Amino acid sequence: MTLDIKALYAPITAALHTTLTTEKVILDAGCLPEAPALAAEMGLTGPVAAIYDDNTYAAAGFRRPKADWEVILPAEGLHANEHGVALLEERLPDGAGYYIAVGSGTVHDLTRYCAFHRGVPFVSCPTAASVDGFCSSVAAMTIHGAKKTIPTAAPKLVVADLDIVANAPAYLAASGYGDMMGKYIALSDWRISHILTGESLYQPIFDLTQQALHLTAAAGEGIRLRQLDAVGNLTYGLVLSGIAMQLMGNSRPASGAEHHISHMIEMEPAGAKLRSAALHGEKAGVGTILASKEYHRIAAMKEPVWQDYQTYSPEELSAVYGEKLAAELLKENERDVAQAVSVQALQEKWAEVQQVIAQIPTAEELTRMYTDTGAYTNLSDIGVDPAKESVLLDYSPAVRNRLTLMRLRRCLAR
Ligand SMILES: [Zn+2]
Repeated sequence: MTLDIKALYAPITAALHTTLTTEKVILDAGCLPEAPALAAEMGLTGPVAAIYDDNTYAAAGFRRPKADWEVILPAEGLHANEHGVALLEERLPDGAGYYIAVGSGTVHDLTRYCAFHRGVPFVSCPTAASVDGFCSSVAAMTIHGAKKTIPTAAPKLVVADLDIVANAPAYLAASGYGDMMGKYIALSDWRISHILTGESLYQPIFDLTQQALHLTAAAGEGIRLRQLDAVGNLTYGLVLSGIAMQLMGNSRPASGAEHHISHMIEMEPAGAKLRSAALHGEKAGVGTILASKEYHRIAAMKEPVWQDYQTYSPEELSAVYGEKLAAELLKENERDVAQAVSVQALQEKWAEVQQVIAQIPTAEELTRMYTDTGAYTNLSDIGVDPAKESVLLDYSPAVRNRLTLMRLRRCLAR
């Protein structure tokens, strides 16, 4: 399947006066070796540097696309952080006409970062359906311990070899599934913010992310069985979610309270003593179930009593995150978005918010769907003590100054 992204979304880019970097997406079995020829068709020329980690390099075997340089990063301990960037910077040759990123999330984030800073276009070749960031123009990277959403380059072309993607270990696709199921919460948070503060919500982008979500949810069991169709639909969903972020210029459609839970764990806050070796999508997927449970609990409250919003204090942030991260988070929350929400707005619009929450599958429904798919469902699965649930719900919104219902829990009188 070839998607002419530029033509497909021309009405949206025209309406929003924006442009898409990603022009074309190829989703086909056996297409990886064609990547340089497909790139040439799109006008990408000059010597090519292909970027791998050593696991992917070995796994791609004879299918590796022809390249003038092959840059191979050590998979062990490789993360989307300043160390990963330094490793790639060291090995990346000067004078490449374009880069080809072959791999999963981390190799993509590092390539995107360097492509952006060097002004070199790149081609994305995902080898696993593990994350929705392949097509995005922003990357969530950990810089000096803090989770930051950083502007990076989006690929001009995506070449997803579905043979390789479907043959990747099933837990990688289950992680991509978790990342996508998070859109139930992310889209609801966006809608709720729109209702309460008038934050702009552009319906075609909302609909595009929802389409991506439905493609993924329907793939279900086929993902566990690594069926080509199901993994193809999941990959398609991940690509569309990235396109939605590119159109939006930020991660609003794709990231809400569930991603903040994932990010908080990834930051390994000292006071809360959180840590997990799980993949990003596994954590976001578990965060989705936690958020769904909490959102439905709040929506079911008989007569919620609202009070004025209080932003995070230095003391509570230091206690949970430790001094160093707390300083970063205080800066992040300086102009707290939730200050725009009045008690009156919460009272008047609460019925509308409840209707949004009613559309989110319940925690039980999600757990059933995840189990069919083979995805992790709870904190123990990702190696986090279940007793940490309340600290996650209370303090994860602080990682990003973005309005979510999780943040607005601070307006609930207890
Ligand atoms: Zn994500």
